[in-house]
Amino acid sequence: MAKVLHVEDLHVSFQVAGGEVQAVRGVTFTLNKRETLAIVGESGSGKSVTALSILGLIPSPPGRIKQGKIRFGERDLTRLPEKEWYRIRGSEIGMIFQDPMTSLNPTMTIGKQIMEGIRWHRRAGWCEAFQKAVEILKLVGIPHPEKRMKQYPHEFSGGMRQRVVIAIALACFPKILIADEPTTALDVTIQAQILDLMKEIQRQTGTSILMITHDLGVVAETADRVAVMYGGQIVEIGWVHEIFASPRHPYTRGLMGSIPCLDKAKDQALEPIPGSPPDLFLPPPGCLFADRCPYAMNVCYEEMPETTHVSGFHQVRCWLEDPEAPPVFPKILPEK
Ligand code: SF4
Ligand code: MG
Repeated sequence: MAKVLHVEDLHVSFQVAGGEVQAVRGVTFTLNKRETLAIVGESGSGKSVTALSILGLIPSPPGRIKQGKIRFGERDLTRLPEKEWYRIRGSEIGMIFQDPMTSLNPTMTIGKQIMEGIRWHRRAGWCEAFQKAVEILKLVGIPHPEKRMKQYPHEFSGGMRQRVVIAIALACFPKILIADEPTTALDVTIQAQILDLMKEIQRQTGTSILMITHDLGVVAETADRVAVMYGGQIVEIGWVHEIFASPRHPYTRGLMGSIPCLDKAKDQALEPIPGSPPDLFLPPPGCLFADRCPYAMNVCYEEMPETTHVSGFHQVRCWLEDPEAPPVFPKILPEK
């Protein structure tokens, strides 16, 4: 599979009064051509911060990419000067955010908003940009596109507005589409339509999608692979069918606990797991999940587990799966 993006050992922190919050701590993953990779996790798990880092949108200060690389073709995006970002963002990497009302300019017709990107990035003339914008509106399923081009965002329904946002994100046929909770603000039927639309567009354009979500239903519906984030780290990554069928990390097992099959997952959000998320201001030295983990052993409190390959693409960060785990802490699962 051809790689489109490779994030390697990414660390992002935010300066706060009295110290720093380590929001992303050593995240590594690859996004392949034509695939959808979902990043799933509770709020504060670092999934949105990971997405913003790929878009060069970490507010600095207080934020800072402390370490790591984000390889996109020949470039390392962590070292890109701001003026280069204007060329990449919106053109090679498109983005769709949760609330279409905040991503659209209420004072500009939607036609102008779509054409802006095409004219700027593609150096297209007015007529060519107009034609392209109409084609894209057709592609995202907006009826009467010529007429709709002249309308303002408030003249569209919630679902139609999100289609417009997708049209803008697609205007330059980006290699990567980053979607952060793209359907959270929409009702269930519209949500399904938008997810179907994204799949169809991917089929037609060959774009790769990074889907950020807290919703296992969205993962089941759209993704090829899934990365589960907890406390700023990826604790498990693999094929969706594999992870739904046999989650290996205790946190993932907790999330999936009530959902024995992919089909059922379609109507489920994340199950709350007892306990609170880790303190990323003063993270503990060991596994970040130890305080909430029913399997925690002494080593878990003392040393951070490394990532272990359990099969092919399936990787887990847990001492239970680590063949290098200290022998004094054997793999004993608690009685049910
Ligand atoms: Fe639980 Fe230990 Fe695995 Fe962490 S490393 S998830 S505490 S068993
Ligand atoms: Mg978020």
